[in-house]
Amino acid sequence: MSQNTIESLFLRCDHSLHDALERLQATGRGLTLLVDDQGRLLRTVTDGDLRRCLLRGATLTESLSALPAQVPITALSPCTPAKALDVMNNKRVDQLPVVDDQGRPVELLLRRDLDSAILLSTPHLGDTERDYVEEAFRTNWIAPLGPNVDAFERELAAYVGVAHAAAMSSGTAAIHVALRLLGVGQGDEVFCSSLTFVASANPILYQHATPVFIDSEPGSWNMSPRALARALQDRSERGRLPKAVVVVDLYGQSADMDALTALCDRYGVPVVEDAAESLGATYKGKASGTFGRLGVYSFNGNKIITTSGGGMLVSDDQDLISRARFLSTQAREPAIHYEHTEVGYNYRMSNVLAGIGRGQLKVLDERVNARRHVFDGYAGLLAGVHGIEWMPEAPWSRSNRWLTACTLTGGVTPPVLIRALAAERIEARPVWKPMHLQPLFAGYDYFPHEPGLDVCADLFHRGVCLPSGSNMSREQVSRVAEAIRKVMTQVCSGT
Ligand SMILES: *Cc1c(COP(=O)(O)O)cnc(C)c1O
Repeated sequence: MSQNTIESLFLRCDHSLHDALERLQATGRGLTLLVDDQGRLLRTVTDGDLRRCLLRGATLTESLSALPAQVPITALSPCTPAKALDVMNNKRVDQLPVVDDQGRPVELLLRRDLDSAILLSTPHLGDTERDYVEEAFRTNWIAPLGPNVDAFERELAAYVGVAHAAAMSSGTAAIHVALRLLGVGQGDEVFCSSLTFVASANPILYQHATPVFIDSEPGSWNMSPRALARALQDRSERGRLPKAVVVVDLYGQSADMDALTALCDRYGVPVVEDAAESLGATYKGKASGTFGRLGVYSFNGNKIITTSGGGMLVSDDQDLISRARFLSTQAREPAIHYEHTEVGYNYRMSNVLAGIGRGQLKVLDERVNARRHVFDGYAGLLAGVHGIEWMPEAPWSRSNRWLTACTLTGGVTPPVLIRALAAERIEARPVWKPMHLQPLFAGYDYFPHEPGLDVCADLFHRGVCLPSGSNMSREQVSRVAEAIRKVMTQVCSGT
């Protein structure tokens, strides 16, 4: 908290009760601080103190010297969040001024900032979602499909600069439809980034096809062009090229799409870009998710913008997107009776949820900036702490920093850090466990970055994702950074 903020709470004895009420109203922290000429804390002043004073017959113009003397409850600076909470619990207070050794307030800690759980990534609504949803109610467009769906598709396509988009019930559904569109079926192989959430790979199994997993490169944590080159060459020599390559943009950062698509083009293999985590990010200035034959976004509750659940399939190929709409509405042939010649899905987004999406799209740029700001906060606050390296931002990339991710390079392991943070009600998680290490995918082929060098397994063993919500306050970022610093320096000084 800056000096300005704390000083905005200061009142002197010649201020009136009315001044104090105004100040409480303007600062909204439930407490103001009465200080002497040297800036030393005399007492705290709450609504209740002023009310009691008025009930005893004081008038609003009377000065604050009408307040009885009080020994304020304070903590001495520096004060850790855990220590502050201890004091708050013992003294049954919700606000705690922190003072220097002269008794001058330097900070006001609020319980709501200290003991609320800090989660990895929570939904963050803007101002207009409700209007679009209400519009859907008012016009009785509660059915799947409707004007919000059409508009959301148009607006998202325009935002990312792609010709066509089809709104789906989830990102996973969009990946599944993408594989169907590319003709993936039994006996086909599909290459897929290994370091990802399982939803990138599950649809390969839905199609009874065979996944082959590709390692990451250290510079972006995304699909290694070297590993992909070896895998394509290997399959080409066997005369068995994959039907598609699913390239994931991890934690909001684009993969090296030029290198990867050039390799796939050379062998004529189409790319599905799984940009579920990277909406709002760019690769060489162009929107992430627009580099494959098909691109996929997710609006799940934990993503950078959300419709509570939903996804989008995008492409410049109008035929592909028309067919995606057909397949995701039960593959209903154009006839007045219900005519079907192939298997379809119930995968379309509802008109109500698309309304949420339209509102969320309006604040996407703000959400990207906020998440990048969270990352900058951690990086700044923890600069100089040994044993942490941040997920690199590749030169081609402007990440949306969906999740701030780091690797631990010293004695602290991810489980130790994650448990210590959990004890302070802070949610952190290991980096995704790679698909080639999952029991579900045991036995499928895997191409490491270099023979004998498994980059994504290493990232999994050393990687941690930190709370990164765009609605995190500065105090919350500080609280997480402080808790991390404590763990990292305890272990260091113990060795
Ligand atoms: C979230 C996610 C998905 C799936 O999206 P849903 O909308 O949850 O189905 C796919 N791939 C990646 C990389 C994801 O993070």
